[in-house]
Amino acid sequence: MRSPIPDYLAEVRGAVEPDRSGAPADYIPELAAADPERLGVAFAMVDGEVYASGDVDQAFTIQSISKPFVYALALADRGFGTVLDKVGVEPSGEAFNEISLEPGTGRPFNPMINAGAIATHSLVGTGQMGADVRLRRVIDGLSAFAGRGLETDESVFASEMAHAHRNFAIAHMLRTHGILTEDPATVVEGYIRQCAVLVTVRDLAVMAATLANNGVHPVSGQRVVPGPVVRQVLSVMSTCGMYDAAGDWATQVGIPAKSGVAGGLIGSLPGQIGIATFSPRLDSHGNSVRGVSLFERFSSDMGLHLMEVPAPARAVVRGTRVVGTGAAAGRVVELQGAIRFTGAERFVREIVSIAPSEPRVALDLTHVHSIDDVARRMLLEVVRRLTLDGREVYLVDPETVVPDPDPGDGGRVAVVRTVEEFVHHRGG
Ligand code: GLN
Repeated sequence: MRSPIPDYLAEVRGAVEPDRSGAPADYIPELAAADPERLGVAFAMVDGEVYASGDVDQAFTIQSISKPFVYALALADRGFGTVLDKVGVEPSGEAFNEISLEPGTGRPFNPMINAGAIATHSLVGTGQMGADVRLRRVIDGLSAFAGRGLETDESVFASEMAHAHRNFAIAHMLRTHGILTEDPATVVEGYIRQCAVLVTVRDLAVMAATLANNGVHPVSGQRVVPGPVVRQVLSVMSTCGMYDAAGDWATQVGIPAKSGVAGGLIGSLPGQIGIATFSPRLDSHGNSVRGVSLFERFSSDMGLHLMEVPAPARAVVRGTRVVGTGAAAGRVVELQGAIRFTGAERFVREIVSIAPSEPRVALDLTHVHSIDDVARRMLLEVVRRLTLDGREVYLVDPETVVPDPDPGDGGRVAVVRTVEEFVHHRGG
């Protein structure tokens, strides 16, 4: 059987293809020369599976889609404090090239507009690096997100440099306010090279999937940036990624996203998928016209809106039963699914209401496939309190979803692999 997913991609591509509205960016002459008919789309799943359709292997410049990734590198290299001191996280509601700096401090509103991205570029690396070494770090970092060595398009770079008066103006303003502490022209040059990095739609989907996969490249398994950095980047993408169209995007599409003036567009849905599209004609906000339509379709066809309220999780407590009698009697509480705070709350509530009177209690995790940190701590606290109440507590944990359980302070727990083992275990 053939997977229906590539057919779906071909179908939506066909649906938006006739739309010839908008125009390629022309303030960078080299971009105006792009073939406006090109259209590609790719999905990269967080386990590395990629589906692609259309012009998916032709390279184009990444432009502003570099911004979230370089922001991630700066956060990873310099820490949150240093970066937040220089670049804010408030949506500006203005065009990407607006000179929007916070009154007083001169801090750019966010890292997704040019002002913030230029400042962010300067923050990558150690702070002591020369501009060339720093640029190398930027390109290597973008390559790590993509999982292959990326290069720049020198003619797009030269073309933008020759017309970058506005970005130079922005950088000089940043220098005036001490947001940049070095030669503004050198930083703009590095930033424009960063924007001239060549990527394909396939690369962009994988880069977005690396964010969706919490910073770990879905194919190589390499950790590119730490988890907390990803959370910060996705948050800023969701509020600022689409510039002055951010509110429309957040309500209609609801996928953290970033667009670039060459016509690329990425979306990254935490834990699920990286999506990329390419079509050079832009709307008045500088976002790809057909890209926006594609994302609107993806979001509604596949229920990908971040604020889509999921069906309530199936009961975390699958069932409870008593095995054995007398001093050997044991209460088995069987849990299931992926347990986070709200699931753990249900379990706690259940065990409080059962108030097991049996001398032995087993928490059966056989059907639990993941348990996050807070849920694990809640579970272990229940173990501790049951111990203090005089119960002998067991975890049935064949897949080790709770490694090295330590209930702390007066708590005791024995780990077994099956309920059978619990039944026959004596004097644990
Ligand atoms: N290099 C472009 C610029 O600085 C990037 C803009 C964009 O993609 N929105 O103007």
